[in-house]
Amino acid sequence: MQWTVRLEARTSQGEVTTTELVTFSRPGVVSTLAEVGLMLDETKALLAKLQMNVLCGQVAEYAAHHRACAACGVLQSFKDRRTRRLQTLFGTVEVEAPRFKLCRCSPSATQELARTVSPVCTLLTARCTPELERVQAELGARTSFRDAARLLETLLPASPANQEGVRNRTHAVALRIEAAEGVSKTWGTTPRVGVLGGRSVPAAPVVRHQPGRSARQGQAGCPRFLTLPAPSRAGAMIQQLATLRGIGVQSATVLVREAFVREFANGKALGSYAGLTATPYSSGGTEREQGISKAGNRRLRTVMVELAWLWQRYQPGSAEVSWFRERVSGTGARVRKVMVVALARKLLIALWRFATQGVVPGGAVMKPAS
Ligand SMILES: [Zn+2]
Repeated sequence: MQWTVRLEARTSQGEVTTTELVTFSRPGVVSTLAEVGLMLDETKALLAKLQMNVLCGQVAEYAAHHRACAACGVLQSFKDRRTRRLQTLFGTVEVEAPRFKLCRCSPSATQELARTVSPVCTLLTARCTPELERVQAELGARTSFRDAARLLETLLPASPANQEGVRNRTHAVALRIEAAEGVSKTWGTTPRVGVLGGRSVPAAPVVRHQPGRSARQGQAGCPRFLTLPAPSRAGAMIQQLATLRGIGVQSATVLVREAFVREFANGKALGSYAGLTATPYSSGGTEREQGISKAGNRRLRTVMVELAWLWQRYQPGSAEVSWFRERVSGTGARVRKVMVVALARKLLIALWRFATQGVVPGGAVMKPAS
């Protein structure tokens, strides 16, 4: 049997256009259960086509509507046609973005700059729809960034996103929620409500996958989730870390958001998550010299190496710095560079114990109370 899906669009003026979306054939007389109904691939293709048609139709209508000069109503003359890409949950859509010559009644039309106007560009203020960003951020908060990207790609024709992309969007959304609320004011209050894409979204119980846990326990089919420390707890951890000399709110935020909100079985697991484990000795070359494996969370690693240098300056009496000094005394810059990674790793674990269990790093000094 063959099926054809047609889309009928009716404009506000009553104009009707019909577009054929997809045609697919499925066995008419099915022989197995697997042949009954729609398949995921067909559905994804259908959704992508549907989205493309609806979105392009809307954008074209928007451009036509805004072609008339807002001040005098005269149609502005066409200049050229460009394209813009928009990432959505149902695929990346390329839309036409015509540019018009600015109406003569406009004061800026006589100046050198801004002689053209592109209504579509003023509409598409971001590369992706708020909904795609929200879903990526939500999934990114619930599971690993890699799994979130994979899950979306499996189920929807969503614009491709790598784990880095999902991570960046999760961060962007988190920052926006914090900015909308004013983080300092919300410490200690739950639940939180974030504003995404003009909509209020309850930041309800966020869960996060336990890295590595389920796989090791052979429960791959049944991933273990646990409740993420409430956002207020993340805020409290940031605040606590920032009481230490040498640690600012910015680096504390990276530590908490990238690592301490997750569950780690022990310090070793945390170290490898950060990519602060020494690479195998035999590997040679620059990687060994730096003592950093390329795996792991790059943002966290960068901040930790920076903090390791700062720690030497601001916490000269700490246990980690004494340990470091003993090992680098009388050696050259190369050894220092390797050892600073080991220091970063030690320090990360100490800060983790401080943030999650309240164990003050040995010999560490607090900032004077202001
Ligand atoms: Zn005008």
